[in-house]
Amino acid sequence: QLYNQVQDLKGTIRVYCRVRPFLPGQSSMQSAVDYIGENGNIMIVNPLKNGKEARKVFSFNKVFGSNVTQEQIYVDTQPLVRSVLDGYNVCIFAYGQTGSGKTYTMSGPDLTSEETWGVNYRALRDLFQISKTRGDVIKYEVGVQMIEIYNEQLNGLNVPDASWIPVSSTQDVLDLMKIGHRNRAVGATALNERSSRSHSVLTVHVYGKELVSGSILKGCLHLVDLAGSERVDKSEAVGERLKEAQHINRSLSALGDVISALAQKSPHVPYRNSKLTQVLQDSLGGHAKTLMFVHINPELNSIGETISTLKFAERVA
Ligand code: ADP
Ligand code: MG
Repeated sequence: QLYNQVQDLKGTIRVYCRVRPFLPGQSSMQSAVDYIGENGNIMIVNPLKNGKEARKVFSFNKVFGSNVTQEQIYVDTQPLVRSVLDGYNVCIFAYGQTGSGKTYTMSGPDLTSEETWGVNYRALRDLFQISKTRGDVIKYEVGVQMIEIYNEQLNGLNVPDASWIPVSSTQDVLDLMKIGHRNRAVGATALNERSSRSHSVLTVHVYGKELVSGSILKGCLHLVDLAGSERVDKSEAVGERLKEAQHINRSLSALGDVISALAQKSPHVPYRNSKLTQVLQDSLGGHAKTLMFVHINPELNSIGETISTLKFAERVA
């Protein structure tokens, strides 16, 4: 059964839209989301100054409303994750403006509570569990690598040379994360600030050996929390901030170009235009599978960013 699902997803690009709930204290605000349909449609409503309203519908593979749990999100992500154990390469991206819920989806708000774990830790837990149940047929080894791409430069988060680290449980990975954060010479606020302007990539590398035949399979899962997609006001950003903004714009549009070229089965895929697409080249296209979560805010004052996010996502879908 799983096999069939996996076959269906091969070579495809899926786009899921997730709407963040209003944050505490915002509950009485009007939402920019008018309607979420069952077939992956979402209707955005924009109240105009003349008292009328503009409405627009966008379509994706799935749309998750603000009440959808981390568990439910993972149910629809699991088939891709599991196919890594069969030797596929998979990329899962979180796209959206800063504050729209990218890190919530990928990592979760609180690593100490498994209930709120995001895709990253659920995926690792799943991979470890399944590799154990297959243990008398295939012997798996799992390693992780954590990198950050900031201003088109690649940095390792845990170790200077961004090398592979063998892991055998989700706890191992959580411990690595803690060490990584401790090693960085920045405080929590600065870390958060910076993380919104860099792409962070957690790569899970799976190596399996069939015990009887001795044949080898390799699979790779890239979990990517992208830099915030918001447009920076050119009149306000100067110096370092402007440079960052330009790098982010360029790399997100390069990613969009690559994914839309793949979606259209274009013979030329422009991987070379950004560090991110270069790093992920082997896992984008061909037999690899791609899932993009696009995140939007419900607030009306974010509607400009929301619409450009949804347009970006429709282009790659
Ligand atoms: P981003 O990584 O895109 O900048 P965050 O993931 O940090 O955004 O989310 C911004 C805030 O919204 C955080 O306080 C986060 O806990 C909260 N949040 C995001 N998505 C959800 C959600 N689905 N349910 C509850 N709170 C959420
Ligand atoms: Mg974030």
